Amino acid sequence: MKNSFLFFCLSLLLFSCGNGGDESKLIPHELKGEAQGTTFTIKYLAKDSLDLTQEVMDMLVRIDQELSLWVDSSVISKFNAQRSTDRSIDSSANYFIEVFRRSQDVFALTDGAFNPAVMPLVRYWGFAKKAETPEVIDSLKVDSLRRHNGFIKVVMAGEGYSYFTPDENLQIDFNAIAQGYSVDLICELLDEKGLENYLVEIGGEVRCKGVNAEGLVWTIGIDRPTDHNSNRELQATVVLNNRALATSGNYRKFYMRNGIKYAHTIDPETGYPVQHTLLSASVFAPDCASADAYATAFMVMGLEKTQAFLAMHPELKLDAYLIYSDEKGGYRTWESEGLKKDLEEMDVKKN
Ligand code: AMP
Ligand code: MG
Repeated sequence: MKNSFLFFCLSLLLFSCGNGGDESKLIPHELKGEAQGTTFTIKYLAKDSLDLTQEVMDMLVRIDQELSLWVDSSVISKFNAQRSTDRSIDSSANYFIEVFRRSQDVFALTDGAFNPAVMPLVRYWGFAKKAETPEVIDSLKVDSLRRHNGFIKVVMAGEGYSYFTPDENLQIDFNAIAQGYSVDLICELLDEKGLENYLVEIGGEVRCKGVNAEGLVWTIGIDRPTDHNSNRELQATVVLNNRALATSGNYRKFYMRNGIKYAHTIDPETGYPVQHTLLSASVFAPDCASADAYATAFMVMGLEKTQAFLAMHPELKLDAYLIYSDEKGGYRTWESEGLKKDLEEMDVKKN
């Protein structure tokens, strides 16, 4: 949700599956475009030429109007601007309410590793709209911007239209969950159309159902976490059978200062960008909002805490593929048990 700029260069590609004349043949469709400061791809099989361009575009605009910090008039921007203990939002803001509720759940389960109240810190560290990176790091300032428990203390009332927050300066950032949530909303739209086979991907967060144009279960690539954007290399491929995958990492949005890397995941406890050996966390979940939120939380928690969390929470139906660095700077990987049969890795050392 980096950008309000919603530019659509949609191409609707229609191919015939080749069994000409058969009424029941499924035709592959592909929509591609730019939204939320990134690109998206939607593929689906439908019985006839079903053009969903306008409906998808309308939905992405509505999501931005509720959840984008890049849109000054969005519900979240107005919520942040209120700077009061009593706040209210438009009564039609269902996406905001749903994301707020789900964020409180993930906050509680991850002990605050996932914490949308990091917003002022995201700005301080230079990862928000119009924000500059700090020349000299001011530890007192960082400390003053930490709001570790502020978010969980917010109480919703009136079905989510009014909020009471003990902290009048609380500001929130849903960027760690909104993209995954957007994927889910588009999947719901495709479900409503009766589609059984599709892939929806926004900025690398993806969810699949059924099979692709070749009749095979969808296979997705996971990037190697290299600091050089230009050479994207694959670290692994994975079969994604009716579920979602989101990846968080410290290798796309970061800067170097005095030999230290500052990346865009903030540890809400310290107020500083996370510093540890975990380079990327790819999380598999039944829905993409959860995959997205937990991927960010796991980047904060690091390798061992994430492994322990997964062992403690089988009810969440999560899997994770973690890429971390060893003492010599080489890549190491770890995957949860549920992924072993679906994952194929390119050459890596295992622990
Ligand atoms: P993601 O790429 O999904 O991991 O989201 C990263 C974005 O989420 C950052 O650019 C921040 O806007 C925000 N963020 C950073 N740290 C946290 C955190 N600990 N909890 C929630 N959101 C965060
Ligand atoms: Mg995330």
